[in-house]
Amino acid sequence: MTVIDTLRDLLGDAVSTDAAVLAPLTADKSGHDSRSAPLALVTARSIDDVQATLRIATEHGVGVVTRGAGTGLAGGSIASAGQIVLSTLAMNHILEVSVADELAVVEPGILNGDLNAALASHGLWFTPDPASRAISTVGGNIATNAGGLLCAKYGVTRESVLALKVVLADGRLLSIGHRSVKGVTGLDLTALMIGSEGTLGVIVEATVRLRPLPTGPVATIGAWFGDVVTAAAACAAITAAGIRPAALELMDAASLTAIDAYLGESLSDRGNTFLLLQADGAASADEAAVALEIIRRGGGEAELTSDPVEGERLFAIRRAFHPALEAQGTVLIEDVAVPRSALPQIFAEIARIGDRYDISIPTVAHAGDGNLHPNFVYEPEADGSVPGVIWTAAGELFAAALRLGGTLTGEHGVGLLKRNWLRDELGDDQFDIQRQIKAVFDPLGVLNPGKVF
Ligand SMILES: Cc1cc2nc3c(=O)[nH]c(=O)nc-3n(C[C@H](O)[C@H](O)[C@H](O)COP(=O)(O)OP(=O)(O)OC[C@H]3O[C@@H](n4cnc5c(N)ncnc54)[C@H](O)[C@@H]3O)c2cc1C
Repeated sequence: MTVIDTLRDLLGDAVSTDAAVLAPLTADKSGHDSRSAPLALVTARSIDDVQATLRIATEHGVGVVTRGAGTGLAGGSIASAGQIVLSTLAMNHILEVSVADELAVVEPGILNGDLNAALASHGLWFTPDPASRAISTVGGNIATNAGGLLCAKYGVTRESVLALKVVLADGRLLSIGHRSVKGVTGLDLTALMIGSEGTLGVIVEATVRLRPLPTGPVATIGAWFGDVVTAAAACAAITAAGIRPAALELMDAASLTAIDAYLGESLSDRGNTFLLLQADGAASADEAAVALEIIRRGGGEAELTSDPVEGERLFAIRRAFHPALEAQGTVLIEDVAVPRSALPQIFAEIARIGDRYDISIPTVAHAGDGNLHPNFVYEPEADGSVPGVIWTAAGELFAAALRLGGTLTGEHGVGLLKRNWLRDELGDDQFDIQRQIKAVFDPLGVLNPGKVF
């Protein structure tokens, strides 16, 4: 029997080979498209379905690409000819909420926003907050170790995962981690699985850590600076002063120009760089007062508000970044991170690279944790691909981030798009060890072939 016949035999109408269903599976939100349709889509309804799919794939030597919502920005969930796509979207139930233990047990396909909507009545939340939270799955967030605006204070996804159930390439089901807050028995395979981008196993259940919803006042600062390097120095000074704002975001001149055009505003008249700070919790007023002082001393023109409507008005400027860039054309969203003290240097490097290649690179930074998203706006090649000059410029950006003690990717992952630079960051020995670890979990290379390693 062929692999499709075997899948259909066991999984019935969970299997689709309809060309219209398969077509969108060749792309994610990275802008990359393999343009080569996979063999089949399996929409798993249960752990049993996932185990059956992987057993069949292993027997037939066929690759499996696990897919959540397909919002990834690194090409991790992109499928190609001859592969099976395993969708988790129908496994979207909340299995348990424990208020006493501040945890939830969920299936991987639940959307982050849906989980948080259900948790609100318990006064709890799952803190990882990618800007895509309304449209991305918790399984995808875990598989990419997603971050967001609030990470400097509330941590990345890794800090919010206690335990996982994972199906291995050969179909075995592994339970790893603990329901308890603490737990150090053996090697930490849960941590290994977080951020593994579908290359080590399929996450089929997650026990996630919850926190009480923040209450009390919120203070928001919007500040304008004359140049981004000075503003970045002010951000570095704020974190060096021990302040942990919930959000600390920085947008450069090219970003503000795009936002002005998109919103029909003239925000740039106040200064070409925008800094947004939001402090929450009992100490928010004191934290905001200290931050305001640092910003003004650093040359920023700032407004501070505790009024929720005014705070939302300032936050809306930041939220307009991605739609404003999309309105300008095709965008390669990059994702380097550097130590926070190196923010001024990396912004100077971005300006240098933009000048050298004569391209505009609007950049937004999660300045509270040193993660930057330089956006390369480009005209695609005739086949839809990213022009070589953009990748050359991006390669220089990655090298600059590494020189400054940073990393190729702060939150989006390696996937397909950053494979070429992986060894540059890891070095030969670590690269080889990581490939050996991959081989322990997936000796036949069934899981997400061609990604990361
Ligand atoms: C508008 C927009 C804003 C974004 N903002 C952010 C942001 O602020 N922060 C951020 O970190 N990311 C952001 N992203 C990127 C993306 O949303 C995240 O990477 C998200 O975590 C991906 O979730 P997903 O369900 O779409 O996963 P997919 O894109 O479907 O998959 C991503 C990777 O995870 C693997 N995977 C998915 N589910 C599983 C599973 N159950 N088991 C094993 N592997 C699995 C896939 O194989 C793939 O390698 C943004 C994307 C968009 C489009």
